[in-house]
Amino acid sequence: VDILKKRKIAVLGSRSVGKSSLILQYTENHFVDSYYPTIEATIPKTITYRGVEYECEIIDTAGQDEFSILNSKHAIGIHGFVLVYSVASRNSLEMVKIVYDKIIDFCGRASVPCVVVGAKLDLPNRCVYRCVLHIPICLCLGSDFYAVPHSSHVRQVATADAESLAKELNAAWIETSAKLNTNVSKVFELCLAEIEKSTGKGQPE
Ligand code: GDP
Repeated sequence: VDILKKRKIAVLGSRSVGKSSLILQYTENHFVDSYYPTIEATIPKTITYRGVEYECEIIDTAGQDEFSILNSKHAIGIHGFVLVYSVASRNSLEMVKIVYDKIIDFCGRASVPCVVVGAKLDLPNRCVYRCVLHIPICLCLGSDFYAVPHSSHVRQVATADAESLAKELNAAWIETSAKLNTNVSKVFELCLAEIEKSTGKGQPE
């Protein structure tokens, strides 16, 4: 009988990029539009990947910024990392690199199993809010014009830029939508795949 495989997965990234929504869609199959900042939560989930059952703990975090100190709980003893940015925020992509470097520093390893996730894939490439005026072209005037900041509802990150960052970090990369349930379970499968790859290379279990 195979022993139970336990895996800890930490979900990190800037605030409000969609970490909790991603986890909620994955574990409970629903999406909420409202935003409740997370303090910290650990969600247990059994994931079957390539015929193997993994008892996973998914750790949802409050979100990081340049100045926050990485909590040791979010680095030590973690098997795999899901680093989330929002496709509508360039800044959140930069934060992925910053958080990755902090993890590397903390763990004292050359690399860690990691998936870079571009959340909110459903957001449009251009501002569509003007469509209420029945003007067929986008006349978006930028941030202050809207109740919703411009930066939070239009794509700002090209897939190629994110992909090349992921490559640099030796990480997997995927874009998701928690809203439409696109590629959500794939995130966690990719993470397990990255973990298995690294344990195969003699990293600690
Ligand atoms: P967290 O702080 O990173 O955990 O972010 P949340 O999961 O709380 O999401 C922040 C906001 O983004 C909420 O208003 C969500 O409804 C919204 N959001 C999250 N995921 C998606 C998505 O896939 N598409 C869209 N359009 N909005 C999303």
